[in-house]
Amino acid sequence: MRSEEPLLNYDELAEKNKRYVWHPFTQMKEYIEGDPVIIAGGDGRKLQDVRGNEYWDGVSSIWLNVHGHRVPEIDQAIRGQLEKIAHSTMLGMANVPAVLLAEKLIHLMPPGLAKVFYSDAGATAVEIAIKMAFQYWQHKGQPQKQRFITMKEAYHGDTIGAVSVGAIDIYRHTYSNLLFSPIHVPYPYIYRSPITGDDETQTAFFLDELEKTLQAHHHETAALIIEPVVQGASGIIVMPDGYLRGVRELCTKYNVLMIADEVATGFGRTGRLFACNHEEVTPDILTAGKGLTGGYLPVAITVATDEIYEAFLGDYEDQKTFFHGHSYTGNQLGCAAAIANLDLMEEKNLIHEVQQQSRYIASRLQEFSKLSHVGDIRQKGFMIGLELVVDRETKEPYEWTERVGVQVCTRAKELGMLIRPLGNVVVFMPPLASTKEELEAMLDILYQSIQEVTES
Ligand SMILES: *Cc1c(COP(=O)(O)O)cnc(C)c1O
Repeated sequence: MRSEEPLLNYDELAEKNKRYVWHPFTQMKEYIEGDPVIIAGGDGRKLQDVRGNEYWDGVSSIWLNVHGHRVPEIDQAIRGQLEKIAHSTMLGMANVPAVLLAEKLIHLMPPGLAKVFYSDAGATAVEIAIKMAFQYWQHKGQPQKQRFITMKEAYHGDTIGAVSVGAIDIYRHTYSNLLFSPIHVPYPYIYRSPITGDDETQTAFFLDELEKTLQAHHHETAALIIEPVVQGASGIIVMPDGYLRGVRELCTKYNVLMIADEVATGFGRTGRLFACNHEEVTPDILTAGKGLTGGYLPVAITVATDEIYEAFLGDYEDQKTFFHGHSYTGNQLGCAAAIANLDLMEEKNLIHEVQQQSRYIASRLQEFSKLSHVGDIRQKGFMIGLELVVDRETKEPYEWTERVGVQVCTRAKELGMLIRPLGNVVVFMPPLASTKEELEAMLDILYQSIQEVTES
């Protein structure tokens, strides 16, 4: 799709991009030889580049976007806030939207979560959770509880603490001497499980593995961190029913804090407001980010129970203060965008819509099992991962050097949709407000891309 006229001089911008910019998660040597997409605008569920091409935003600008781009209500909320003030510090003072957003969030959170600590990225929200959990035990007179339990292949962000509790080897091994060492437990990745059996059997097996670890290490463990219901960056891996509930029960039993990292899953992405809602779980600490501002501005939150918050209370001389903060903590523009995003979600009954459209996506995904290289189809709400394999019988993976996921996404781009793979997993995460017609168009491109790349 092309409009008549280029909006800006592409060649000039591409040259400057090459000369001045270092991109995230990108091998620049290869990237600068390519033909980069330079986004100039967006509207609804579409993005436009400076050459006038239009694309579906098939991964919600990396899992953020909720209502679409240039949403009048959110735009207006930011403009309205700009008329008042853009930013002032939260160190020792408050601001209007940060207070009102915190109130709103606490009413929406799983019951028991009570205090909102602001930051500006998922990774910082996780850093804060790690430090809070660590310090909590010092205040409780159990300073030996210093370690963390994490799931194999977990992803929690890219700062040193967040990478420490992460478990994806390629993001970790280069920095291993800088990192602290958590205790790893196997994640219930059913498609490649070491045991056979139904979901109930799998749940019991993996909870048993966790319990063995807790028995051995609970006395030295501050917290367990988990991506609830869907492990995202490892390949959109959906856990079996009952597992999250079981994790909560085991953490309680062994006196280990539970941190639920809802940075990817929060704010409707899985078909409930929070993934923890699927199993009526309240973690001790919940982190969220990505969808909070509708994909507009960088605001993240670490939400704690009163039990944790109160452990930090004391006289100044007690030195129980939580010494952590960022320059832009509680940014007014971001908080105003978040309030507008949440109001709009409510007004549009968006969670209900997501549930409806998820059923449509599920029905369309059945067709994908006709494709001979689609090994596993995973979906929870608007989080979809299609694992491509060389051989469906043996589940033999593609060599990573073949970059089959990248090839599929390159084809999708030519067909008018921007998506980004995770290794051999093709990820589809459309904005939550996508209509049935829009989803249909996106799924058509997804199907055609996979078919052409894997069956040619
Ligand atoms: C994306 C993500 C993060 C990191 O968030 P950033 O905003 O990119 O720092 C942390 N945890 C999970 C589960 C994520 O998906």
